[in-house]
Amino acid sequence: MGPAAKHLETSPATAGVEVRPTFAQIDLGALRHNLAAVQAHVGSARVLAVVKADAYGHGAAQASAAFVDAGAWGLAVSLVEEGVHLREAGVLAPIVVLGGVVPASADVLVHRQLTPVIWSVAQLERLSEAVRRAGARAARVHVKIDTGMTRLGVLPGELSPLLDWFAQDQGQTVMFEGVMTHLACADDRGDELSSKRQLTTFEDCLGTISAAGFSPPLRHACNSAGLVRFPSAHFDMVRPGIALYGSAAAPDVQLAGLRESMSMRSSVLAVREVPAGVRVSYGGKAQLHRPSRLAIVPVGYADGYPRNMSGSAEMLVRGHRCEVVGSITMDVSMLDVTDLPGVRAGEAVTMLGTQGLGRIDLHEMAQWSGTISYEVTCGVSKRVPRRYV
Ligand SMILES: *Cc1c(COP(=O)(O)O)cnc(C)c1O
Repeated sequence: MGPAAKHLETSPATAGVEVRPTFAQIDLGALRHNLAAVQAHVGSARVLAVVKADAYGHGAAQASAAFVDAGAWGLAVSLVEEGVHLREAGVLAPIVVLGGVVPASADVLVHRQLTPVIWSVAQLERLSEAVRRAGARAARVHVKIDTGMTRLGVLPGELSPLLDWFAQDQGQTVMFEGVMTHLACADDRGDELSSKRQLTTFEDCLGTISAAGFSPPLRHACNSAGLVRFPSAHFDMVRPGIALYGSAAAPDVQLAGLRESMSMRSSVLAVREVPAGVRVSYGGKAQLHRPSRLAIVPVGYADGYPRNMSGSAEMLVRGHRCEVVGSITMDVSMLDVTDLPGVRAGEAVTMLGTQGLGRIDLHEMAQWSGTISYEVTCGVSKRVPRRYV
């Protein structure tokens, strides 16, 4: 081992000592609670917990264990790599790969017993060949139908070659376990018609499939917003993501009683007294109109605290809202704590979540950043340690 490697091995960061007080707190109890709330809402339908993108930034292995523990039927990821990661973390539950079979991934899918979502005969062929190569038992697949999202899936009119293929295979190499679609406008309260049309098309396809002699046991269509707005479309299974993390695409499509599972916390690095008239941060755009006390907080856009929230963001200190002053920088933000007497280095700061009587939720932070709650939690970067409670 060279001196450089030795240094790395013994450095505080690699020894697991956190040298910076900024972290994302993940509430595993909230994840379990949200899974149970969704399950109660959908009754006998199964819950396929969506943990793509590292469980929306929460940590896929930890979140998956919590969801399975709380009764999820299985887990859904986007990429084959994400599925492999979960298998290596010891997840035994079914894992559905929403992103499909890229040509090189068929063998891995079979080896790891991942369930791909497919929409073409070519994908079925590749999977079938991989099953034969491995001498494995039949691989399970879910067929995706594009009923109006225009992203992934087979068009309703092009379903029959797939059904012919299944008929020929007779379940020897591939088992037709599920059929699904994805709603494009489920989160838009003002637009009921698009979803209804998609669901009607989906029902038509289910009729075609059944007339061809197939009865895939898992039919599913609803994401978080869909399962709230379209109770008659729960079918055999629902696919919530954001609801399990305690949020929604918009407040008016949110299931009641959810708990946000991620908070972002740090503490004050330093406090500075600054005279009136001084400009703060890059570009000097923020000018102090009074003698001020600024708390320097070690969180910036490289942590996923978006720079475009400069001018609107607030943080909590002692449960009170304080304004972020000037541009959010890569690693550090400046907070106006003039109205809170005696704030000192080391005091707790909450960027997202509850502190005392104060609360900043995902919808608010998303609004400051001109985005949706999904992008906020997914955006919390790798260098922010996740602390599980
Ligand atoms: C991401 C995703 C979901 C989950 O969506 P939420 O809005 O987070 O509930 C469900 N189905 C598919 C196909 C997805 O890609």
